[in-house]
Amino acid sequence: MFNIYIKFLFVLFVSFISLANTTVYAKGNNSLVDVRIWPSTESTRTTIETTKEIKFTHEKVGKKINVKFNENLNIEKYIINLNNAVSNSDYIKKIEYSNKNKTLIYELRKDIEITIFNIEPIHKYKHRLVIDIKNNSTKKKIVKEKKKPYFIVGIDAGHGGEDPGAIGEMGTYEKDITLAMAKKLKEKIDKIDGFKGVLIRDGDYFISLYDRVEKAHKLKANILISIHADSAEYKYAEGSSVYILSESGASSASNKWLADKENLSDLIGGAKIPKKESYLKKILMDMVLTSNIKKSKKLAEKILVGIKENDNIEMHKNNIEDAGFVVLKSPKVPSVLIETAFISNKKEEKKLKDKKFQEQIVKAIVDGIKKYKEKEVDL
Ligand SMILES: [Zn+2]
Repeated sequence: MFNIYIKFLFVLFVSFISLANTTVYAKGNNSLVDVRIWPSTESTRTTIETTKEIKFTHEKVGKKINVKFNENLNIEKYIINLNNAVSNSDYIKKIEYSNKNKTLIYELRKDIEITIFNIEPIHKYKHRLVIDIKNNSTKKKIVKEKKKPYFIVGIDAGHGGEDPGAIGEMGTYEKDITLAMAKKLKEKIDKIDGFKGVLIRDGDYFISLYDRVEKAHKLKANILISIHADSAEYKYAEGSSVYILSESGASSASNKWLADKENLSDLIGGAKIPKKESYLKKILMDMVLTSNIKKSKKLAEKILVGIKENDNIEMHKNNIEDAGFVVLKSPKVPSVLIETAFISNKKEEKKLKDKKFQEQIVKAIVDGIKKYKEKEVDL
């Protein structure tokens, strides 16, 4: 097993090198590859993918944002799609492109926050310019909703937007499976008296791993469940695994590899690598994290029992595993990551798409959460 992972890391390394080479030798004009948009109620991301890095300036003029490029990117053919995507937005009114001024214009309905940054080529993507428009008013809404009569379960659907997660042989995207299961989990949780499920991601858009942790805090989640689907080079690998954050390093080389892979999400999905990293590193040093890992372990134990009690779900690993998943680094919300099944195994890819299997996994998780709440939590 260990050799396989070393080989994998090597392949990953080589692909990074070759990506680096293509950028060095890319000559000629910058050409447009694609323009994608990922709207949500909280923020809307526009990604402009090109063969070379885009140089830009931007300015806010009244209720408009002008993003001016150094060269004409011929974005106009995407404008209809972009506008269709934001037709229900309560903060973006219209998107236009001026060929003459080489400028992308966002007409706004209200005050927003804008972040623009470049991402180096990674994975299947070439150079990307990311324009994030954040709806400022949702922040206030989240704070208002913080009354706490419930046991709040933060539900994190892994990946999203530019980051598809693992992709199955039949073309199934991990990000779609995790979202479907997350929605089912919320539905089931909401039906239990005294419980409330809150979705960290409720559509096909990207949230950085750090922001997922922060959102769980803002939503006053009592626990955080991160849902994923596993993948491995060995195509018959199968079953579910339950993970918590490791106190120091991962419990095995394969877990380290898996955590690195899941943590790549921020690079593929396109996070602006924030100062928060050092902030989180400091938190890692803190004693509270150790105590939170203990609580996470209790939660993971109950979920593991829930899964084992269901005869239709195979276990990949019989015990709780630990690894350095960034999304589990909350200092106070007990957090568990579940690799529901292997999307890289064709048999399990079919299961992951099957509504009945999704229901079973969700039921097992809910059973575990209920037991944890009964035994471990005094509200
Ligand atoms: Zn994943």
